Amino acid sequence: MEFFAPQVRDTKLPFHYVSQYYSMPVVAGKESVSPICLWGFNKPKVTEVVQAGDPVLHEPALEVRVEDIGSARIEKIINDMVATMRNAPGVGLAAPQIGEQLQIIVLEDTKELMSYAPPEEVKEQQREPFDLLVIINPKLTRKGGSDKAVFFEGCLSIDGYRALVERDLEVEVSGLGRDGNPIYIKASGWKARILQHECDHLMGDLYVDKMVPKSFRATKNLRLPLAAGCPNPGVCKASTKRV
Ligand SMILES: [Zn+2]
Repeated sequence: MEFFAPQVRDTKLPFHYVSQYYSMPVVAGKESVSPICLWGFNKPKVTEVVQAGDPVLHEPALEVRVEDIGSARIEKIINDMVATMRNAPGVGLAAPQIGEQLQIIVLEDTKELMSYAPPEEVKEQQREPFDLLVIINPKLTRKGGSDKAVFFEGCLSIDGYRALVERDLEVEVSGLGRDGNPIYIKASGWKARILQHECDHLMGDLYVDKMVPKSFRATKNLRLPLAAGCPNPGVCKASTKRV
């Protein structure tokens, strides 16, 4: 998922955004880089993000076999996903976006990425930084009666466009980490949106399958007025009917 500060793409990115994966390959205690990379082979590769229209994005992804977790192949896919997400830069990526029809997602949001968005927008979106998450075979649970949030959303697989998408404000996700251990995440706000967006990818759904159709627009038109009938961006209490 794009992190939603389109102006950054038009400027020169800070050096470490482009190269941090290579310039800082090993951080003790961080799960960002597999030990495979320590020895200089099987280096993570920044991959071209698959664009909408490719069948790999529109069909359900396959579960990763538990016995394959930790294998060189799965580790390579995860490392390539992280490198590609950070290079874009984005706040989330699903394996089908690098052409792998597997149920793996990665997500991460940083203070630096957030600094490119207007502070009032960050606050309204309930966006908080969080460390890299790698989830294999994620299962997302929606809480009945959860509040909703409508915001513009982008996708690295639909380059250059945005649309309003209604998402649950709180979700729970369980799955497996890259070490095979169970993971359970309770998320709210923007992180919950990223999780829903990435888990949708694994079902073969893109945000355009769920968007408010008349809000779809090129990034350069982002701030132009909304068409009649489009909901205003913001949080909507479950008990409140949006006008
Ligand atoms: Zn996406």
